[in-house]
Amino acid sequence: MHSPKPPLSIEISKSNIIHNINFVRQLIGDDVVYGSVVKGNAYGHGIEEYCKIAFEAGVKQFCTYTANEAYKVWKTTNGEADILIMGFIDTSELEWVISNEIEFFVFEELRLKDAIRVAKKVQKKALVHIELETGMNRTGFPLPKLNKVLSLIEESKAYVETRGVCTHFAGAESISNYHRVKKQQSRFKKTVKLLKDTGQLPKRVHSACSAAVIAYPKTIHNMVRVGILQYGFFPSREILVNYMSKNPEVEMLPKRVLTWKSKVMDIKDVKPGEFIGYGTSYFANVPTKIAIVPVGYALGFNRNLSNLGKVLIQGQRLSVIGTVNMNALTVNITDLDNINIGDEVVLIGNQDDMEISVSSFYDQGNLPNYELLTRLPSEIPRIVVS
Ligand SMILES: *Cc1c(COP(=O)(O)O)cnc(C)c1O
Repeated sequence: MHSPKPPLSIEISKSNIIHNINFVRQLIGDDVVYGSVVKGNAYGHGIEEYCKIAFEAGVKQFCTYTANEAYKVWKTTNGEADILIMGFIDTSELEWVISNEIEFFVFEELRLKDAIRVAKKVQKKALVHIELETGMNRTGFPLPKLNKVLSLIEESKAYVETRGVCTHFAGAESISNYHRVKKQQSRFKKTVKLLKDTGQLPKRVHSACSAAVIAYPKTIHNMVRVGILQYGFFPSREILVNYMSKNPEVEMLPKRVLTWKSKVMDIKDVKPGEFIGYGTSYFANVPTKIAIVPVGYALGFNRNLSNLGKVLIQGQRLSVIGTVNMNALTVNITDLDNINIGDEVVLIGNQDDMEISVSSFYDQGNLPNYELLTRLPSEIPRIVVS
């Protein structure tokens, strides 16, 4: 017997992934390296499923946050893709990283020194991208440290190669950060020029995330690190407006890749005067018919959507009533006779002409898309559809 599956699935549309890759490609041009950001389980889409399709569609460079994610990309692409780790690597993982020519950000001296030590041990060069602190105040070498870093690398150049120089913006998706991001850009640009003038500029220069590709195209340099756009979402409404105002004629927009589905598990009638579910949050004033769906907050359906969420069944947009439980939610199907146990329930996506968008969760649950997507549990099966 095969192992039983959770009571829901996430479908991933291959054609929409390819569409979005073309969308990003058309924004950045053919000569720029497309770094596909697949941290957070490919923003909830399933890192293995996503990378396999993207790799076959011609994406050669993947960016992860951790070594653990890098390992998954490496396995699914048979070690053929270029992989760049932008965040955490445990010292014990450096050996695997360096032996397999996985590139990684360095942003503090200890990481760099450890990398050089491990590279000597495995007799392979550590392939590093120097991350610069330009104003986000997360990771990155402060600019005055750059000379020291460069000389450390120069001293050990048999064991370390600088493949890139990069920085990350502190919120390019919102105009309220305009001055801060502009300041970051100008610091980064100055440093890149300095490196160029002294003949020390590495092959790759990168700073742009999805929002910057659209709002600050000058930050594209010769590589980008794009996440959210390739999953079919603009990073914010502002960025959508920015894009539409620059491209008023455009027909091509990114398309949602993911559809989240479950099934009706039970149906029952509730008499007027009764409460539905735990506690007293929903009171049936009238005879009420309900469908029970085996999805709750343990599988990513936010409890904030109690009495607020919508789902689709038989092409109709229906209300979640009562509190969302750990493993179940209740849908109001009063007056509908065509709904049966086993019917498909769409939590995000289309059914006939109706759609539940991810942003409807945003408005109601007060969550950014990024968070809703990445909180979709990894144990939900990802099913690739055409
Ligand atoms: C997440 C991340 C990105 C991608 O951001 P999007 O807004 O999803 O395009 C790029 N660079 C770094 C360092 C990141 O952490």
